[in-house]
Amino acid sequence: MPQTHSTDILIVGGGIAGLWLNARLRRLGYSTLLVERDSLGGGQSVKSQGIIHGGAKYALHGALTGASEAIADMPRRWREALAGSGELDLCGVRILSESHYLWSPGTLAGNLTSFFASKAVRGRVDQVKGSDLPPALQHPKFKGKVYRLAELVLDVPSLIARLAELAGDSLVAASLIEPLRDNGELCGLLIDGMPVRAQRIVLSAGAGTAELLASLGVNQPAQQLRPLHMVLAKGPALKPLYAHCLGGGPKPRVTVTTHPAADGQWVWYLGGDLAEADGVARDAASQIKAAQQEMAELLPWVDQAQTRWATLRVDRAEPAQSGLVRPDNAFLADQGRLLVGWPTKLALAPDLSERVCAALQRDGIRPGQHPAAPPLPRPPLARPAWEELLP
Ligand SMILES: Cc1cc2nc3c(=O)[nH]c(=O)nc-3n(C[C@H](O)[C@H](O)[C@H](O)COP(=O)(O)OP(=O)(O)OC[C@H]3O[C@@H](n4cnc5c(N)ncnc54)[C@H](O)[C@@H]3O)c2cc1C
Repeated sequence: MPQTHSTDILIVGGGIAGLWLNARLRRLGYSTLLVERDSLGGGQSVKSQGIIHGGAKYALHGALTGASEAIADMPRRWREALAGSGELDLCGVRILSESHYLWSPGTLAGNLTSFFASKAVRGRVDQVKGSDLPPALQHPKFKGKVYRLAELVLDVPSLIARLAELAGDSLVAASLIEPLRDNGELCGLLIDGMPVRAQRIVLSAGAGTAELLASLGVNQPAQQLRPLHMVLAKGPALKPLYAHCLGGGPKPRVTVTTHPAADGQWVWYLGGDLAEADGVARDAASQIKAAQQEMAELLPWVDQAQTRWATLRVDRAEPAQSGLVRPDNAFLADQGRLLVGWPTKLALAPDLSERVCAALQRDGIRPGQHPAAPPLPRPPLARPAWEELLP
């Protein structure tokens, strides 16, 4: 029988949720171990658009009432962390844009007026013009209105790298997770056969959480997957743009973020309505065609002759929706020693950590003394999708 290890908090899943929580707990003096089976951030996190939402997008379709706005506080919390004065020291993480924008391509001014007069967005947006417009929209042919939101856009690979630094020696690579029980009670996990006891076990494994719960013999909370079919474009004519382009419906017609490729070119990463239901139903070639048409219509002055295109299918993992789940809070369920969480957004990782810390405090879980971490390899950092698909 291999030697038994112990830790205070055992975390499964090294995306933004697990890594943020891990860094936070270590700062509070807890001993932690985080198990990742593939690469750090390689699930949804590094495939996300990196927008630190403050809720404006949800206000657009009335889902944000102002009653419980955990998300409204997220840009401030992230900014403090990025400045090194917040709950984590994220100095050095690359900020791609200080603001995300709402962009209405011309005819929607009426809708926007009532939206911007609504309580949820007042004081959080201002209109920009001329040389203040995002670079990709600075063209004589550009018509429409652009509003600046108090929402940051981050380079997620550098964020994951910084959180991995803050993790010290607590990160371990392992693929087989099984329950470790004491008199029938869950007391830890077998990690690739190695027993690790813990005061609390946190599952933050994104889309892998349902399978983990099943392997522990637990059937709640239920998970749902929301498929997306994102589009990537890379070419010398692309300039930075971070914006939700409004289409008159409840969701942005397309959400564009722009990411730096290793060779110095910019990559547009396109989501929003384009990547949802109709986009999911299209095969890759038709999805690229739809994206090309959309961008040609919205930004006809951009010469796309040398642009290369690719698509990426990825599922968003969330708790199964019930009337109780709000779009602006992280989700955490706890049952004895086991805690299960989905941040539901990258931006809400601090909210998920806060909920775990509150549960530990409620249960009187304090940092203990533990020997060194078990001798397992460290998981690698995920490579950005654009380096894989459009090298
Ligand atoms: C295309 C897209 C765009 C998005 N854009 C944004 C955005 O702009 N802003 C925003 O706030 N949110 C955005 N999101 C949502 C955001 O990405 C997710 O909510 C967030 O990244 C989830 O983080 P996580 O750590 O829970 O999951 P993940 O990042 O998926 O991490 C889970 C980790 O667990 C590991 N794992 C799974 N099973 C096991 C196992 N059995 N053992 C060990 N490890 C395991 C996985 O390998 C993975 O590394 C976007 C999501 C998508 C898909």
